[in-house]
Amino acid sequence: MNIHEYQAKELFDRFEVPSPRGQMAETAEDALKIAQEINSDLMVVKAQVHAGGRGKGTFKNGFEGGVHLTKSAEDIGALAGKMIGQTLVTKQTGEEGKLVRKVMVADAVDIKHEYYLAVLMDRETSRPVIVASTEGGMDIEEVAESSPEKILRVFIHPLAGLQAHQVRKLIVGLGLKGPAAKAFGKVLKNLYRLFTSLDCDMVEINPLVETPDGEVLALDAKFGFDDNALYRHPEVEAYRDIEEEDPREVAAAEFDLSYIGLDGNIACLVNGAGLAMATMDAIKFSGGDPANFLDVGGGATEAQVKGAFNIIQSDPKVEAILINIFGGIMDCNVIAQGVVAAVKETGLKLPLVVRLEGNNVAAGRETLTASGLAITGADDLADAAKKAVAAV
Ligand code: ADP
Ligand code: MG
Repeated sequence: MNIHEYQAKELFDRFEVPSPRGQMAETAEDALKIAQEINSDLMVVKAQVHAGGRGKGTFKNGFEGGVHLTKSAEDIGALAGKMIGQTLVTKQTGEEGKLVRKVMVADAVDIKHEYYLAVLMDRETSRPVIVASTEGGMDIEEVAESSPEKILRVFIHPLAGLQAHQVRKLIVGLGLKGPAAKAFGKVLKNLYRLFTSLDCDMVEINPLVETPDGEVLALDAKFGFDDNALYRHPEVEAYRDIEEEDPREVAAAEFDLSYIGLDGNIACLVNGAGLAMATMDAIKFSGGDPANFLDVGGGATEAQVKGAFNIIQSDPKVEAILINIFGGIMDCNVIAQGVVAAVKETGLKLPLVVRLEGNNVAAGRETLTASGLAITGADDLADAAKKAVAAV
């Protein structure tokens, strides 16, 4: 799960990670009021969407930039009015962009230097890693590409936690001195405590800035939380903004399905995560593109299968459906009944390729045949993938 910058700021406040004074607004009038309250020489108004690259983004109506600095409260109100209700396209939103419903108005900070700082879960070493760079404020992937030596990595043993020598290593590596070095150390410790306490899988601050007075503040924030641990943090779960999420994934979550939306046109309905991955590979290998990852799980019910099938059919990108079931615990007939029940309601609008094998497969095939649906049968996974690709 991701959250907005203004929500991240609340978590920063709680864990004593300094960030500029600011507040969220849903209308231009409220943005103006907040700016009048902040009443500082320079202020910033920022579009709130679950995507980075806002500063360099462009609205679909041509208005440039999702982050604006200005001196007057009236300007803040006017800029907020130009952003709210408009669709912002950034490097991270995809070309469809994201509708801006909220902005954050904050104090603008005098910046001496912009750094990059993130705590991530590293899958290779199964431990948190701190990633830091002197090249903050820009696209970190680009920095990693063009000057990888400018990216520092420190791996943390999860039981030992962040060690003093690791903090020093980062301070020296970033060239921080005096009060800024001390302030950075405190930010790092508090950020790591936040990361572990809230079961994050990513906290990225870009930029983390040093001011001329030696203060260190987080000017931006991107959070990712481990969904499996969210039940331990109801206050974090309350930050969920489903309007920012893929509607296909929101619907799938209602049915407890493991679903990830992708950009291709061949929908997959599979049991087991490994088989689902193999199915996507087989589609790619045959020259096609999967529209989703979907694992209905080992003990799926007819209602879940029906739900899954409806999500697939309502996705406008989908041009063919591939069902690949290897019944172990899963009863092939439950899948067949779920599919038939879903199609009875909505009709079958797309080519459907089915490969069923294993537990109770004869009954499953019988259910499909008896339904009279136009189904293309397949002998094995490779055959199924080929037929699905040929159908689009
Ligand atoms: P994004 O990464 O989505 O473009 P940021 O929050 O990083 O958005 O803002 C882009 C840039 O705008 C920052 O790199 C920084 O230079 C500037 N900026 C953002 N917030 C502030 C602030 N409170 N004070 C001063 N400058 C800011
Ligand atoms: Mg940023």
